[in-house]
Amino acid sequence: MFTADTLKGRVALITGGAGDIGLEIATTYGRLGATVVLASRNQERLDRACGQLAAEGITAAAFRTDVRDFDEVKRTIDNAVERFGSLDVLVNNAAGNFHCPTAGLTPKGWRTVIDIDLNGTFYCCLASYEHLKRSQFGGSIISIITMLGVTGWPGAAHAAAAKAGILSLSRTLAVEWGPDGIRVNTISPGPIGDTEGVKRMYLDTGRGELERKKTALGRFGAKIDIANAATYLASDLGSYMTGENMVVDGGRWLKYVAS
Ligand code: NAP
Repeated sequence: MFTADTLKGRVALITGGAGDIGLEIATTYGRLGATVVLASRNQERLDRACGQLAAEGITAAAFRTDVRDFDEVKRTIDNAVERFGSLDVLVNNAAGNFHCPTAGLTPKGWRTVIDIDLNGTFYCCLASYEHLKRSQFGGSIISIITMLGVTGWPGAAHAAAAKAGILSLSRTLAVEWGPDGIRVNTISPGPIGDTEGVKRMYLDTGRGELERKKTALGRFGAKIDIANAATYLASDLGSYMTGENMVVDGGRWLKYVAS
């Protein structure tokens, strides 16, 4: 159990913060004392998420942002710092994906996913760097990836390559920016049962039981499992942790390798 002041005084920006896992991270951070900034494209969803956070007494703001556009990303991050005084935590959570066998994948489809996941993550890291360097807590960057970026992901070569790229980028930045007090880590969730993605991909298609059995624990994860990992990495509890990929997948990847 984290204490109520685990993230007190920190300002955290979460891309895709109005989405399933992003909003869970924002809510958890807010409950533990952080000020949260959400950045994604759909204004209606951002407003709804901000209202939900405000109703809990969480200080929150939303800036409409397409992470594929560096100028927009920079504006959002600078605006957040101007409004709240600092940036201490960056969570790269925004992602796009669609199923497509690689032989049928168009260059445009490939570029779109690489642009959101990999380039968007790079833009956010770059635009945050000077602010994170000045964080009184030591900056923390957390990117949400998946072990499918390591194992390969038939039917989603674009997303697999993007997530693998984020892992590599994070390890590079961990070393380059370590002397600036910035920690850089990734989280690899397994299938998270209370998200639209898993509902659409597995539950609605009748593959729920099969996919559950692919994990060592025999069940899906929950959004809070990822938010807890993201809290650990954002807080002083994870202060000696950098360049790490925290696998929160119920032993799915291990079972895949071991079988
Ligand atoms: P989600 O609900 O679809 O959230 C993704 C968010 O990204 C949305 O809020 C979306 O908002 C935002 N986004 C998409 N394109 C964007 C762009 N160009 N600029 C800014 N924001 C953009 O998905 P989720 O299930 O919560 O997934 C969150 C993260 O966890 C992703 O990185 C995903 O790959 C990873 N993950 C999820 C699972 C799972 O089981 N759900 C498993 C492994 C990894 P807008 O459309 O409004 O921009």
